[in-house]
Amino acid sequence: MDLTKLPPALKGKVILDKDVLNAYSSDILSNVSGQAGGVVRVTDADDVHSLVSWALSESVPIVARGGGSSLDGECVPFGGAVVVDFATHLNKIIDIDKENMLALVQPGLINRELNRRLEEHGLFFPPNPGSWEISTVGGNVSTNAAGPRSYRYGSTKSWVQAIDAVLGTGKRVWYGTRARKSSSGLDMVRLLAGSEGTLGIFTSILLRLAPLPQKRVGVTIALPDIEAATKAVVKLAHSPFIAISAIEFLDESCIDALNSVYSSSLPESPSLLMLEIESTASGESEVLSSLLDMLTEFGPMGEPLYFDDANAMWDLRGKTTLALEKLYGPRFRDDVAVPVSRFPELVQGSRKIFSNTALHPSFFGHAGDGNLHLEFNRNLLSKSKLDALLSSLYSLTVDLGGTLTGEHGIGSSKLPYLKMEIGGAALNSMRQIKMALDPKGILNPGKGY
Ligand SMILES: Cc1cc2nc3c(=O)[nH]c(=O)nc-3n(C[C@H](O)[C@H](O)[C@H](O)COP(=O)(O)OP(=O)(O)OC[C@H]3O[C@@H](n4cnc5c(N)ncnc54)[C@H](O)[C@@H]3O)c2cc1C
Repeated sequence: MDLTKLPPALKGKVILDKDVLNAYSSDILSNVSGQAGGVVRVTDADDVHSLVSWALSESVPIVARGGGSSLDGECVPFGGAVVVDFATHLNKIIDIDKENMLALVQPGLINRELNRRLEEHGLFFPPNPGSWEISTVGGNVSTNAAGPRSYRYGSTKSWVQAIDAVLGTGKRVWYGTRARKSSSGLDMVRLLAGSEGTLGIFTSILLRLAPLPQKRVGVTIALPDIEAATKAVVKLAHSPFIAISAIEFLDESCIDALNSVYSSSLPESPSLLMLEIESTASGESEVLSSLLDMLTEFGPMGEPLYFDDANAMWDLRGKTTLALEKLYGPRFRDDVAVPVSRFPELVQGSRKIFSNTALHPSFFGHAGDGNLHLEFNRNLLSKSKLDALLSSLYSLTVDLGGTLTGEHGIGSSKLPYLKMEIGGAALNSMRQIKMALDPKGILNPGKGY
């Protein structure tokens, strides 16, 4: 690869400094690492267009990068690929259309920053991954990220109205419309969303927004064991309380880690539910008391802990992974999801799979969506033992009607297992789409499908 042949407009934006290349050769937390051949800090859509055209003519692989917080190697460059950095410059809100509840943004904008700005307009962008302080909208769209509030509002895909992208063919396209709904042609927006940068590189994204609820409150309820907690999740998910906007679950090790690393005061208990309730200002106490009545059969311990600022609760919850890493060292992380009625079986079965090991995984997750995260010390296992455990976990998940990843994506680390979930013909059709939109395979090779 000869970076001296880059179009003149890009030359001052290329970084070849060894320390910078090292920093961009891995993500911030996972154990996947690669080798960046260069970093280009793009400043506008034309830069992206000329970079992709150059990469096509030179057959150079390129990888888009937002916050670098993905957990399965999604943003890691392999084989000296050039990293296209969006977070440094392409990180602005272009326009907020308050009347139609839409925002046009650059991909490198941090999720939480967008939400802070939207508050001034009485609006919000609902997907709130635990990483919302560090992850970008481009990364969120590309991984179809989700968060606690996705229980009510859905994953990122539901909030993407249109995408401006440069495809692997070198063509710049605008997919989507400003209209609330459309039946025109194929839904290319939802094809690009969740494609992990393998089909096109986004240059701007039109997001759909929601009005801020009048009142939101966070509440944590301690329960005597994990089984009670998982069954309570199913009951809540079938309840008529449309006011519940998030149902999260944490086990004792997560509660301990948050309390000791971040000095929080979560109730010390075998398991904890974290819920968010939306209501009108006057209806709040009625909703809360019906909710607590409904959970009586599961033996709640002590008084619930309330967070008047629900975002403060989600900020704390979002630090679970970091707290576990700080306390126990480098972790392996997983992210399986099943239909919510099978969530208790997923948790019980996963615990059984790990019961003959010394790993003591931590269990938590976006339980209302049937999404379980489990994390354990990755240095305690040989590769073959890890592979055997993961195969058992994924086989259980698929048998329960679930998926290998609820929100983090496949990246490179889950690629060897994908065929356990997706059949050969379905995988082939995905690869044919890849061939049509990225015929030379220059966009994020080795990832996704
Ligand atoms: C502490 C912590 C908590 C987390 N909690 C959650 C959670 O609750 N829910 C969740 O879903 N995830 C979570 N994650 C995972 C991660 O934050 C998400 O996957 C997030 O969406 C990644 O965003 P990013 O900006 O960091 O993207 P990156 O990691 O930089 O990139 C992710 C993918 O997006 C692609 N991409 C980036 N920019 C573009 C672009 N302009 N065009 C095309 N493709 C692009 C990259 O090529 C890559 O494939 C967590 C991670 C951490 C470290």
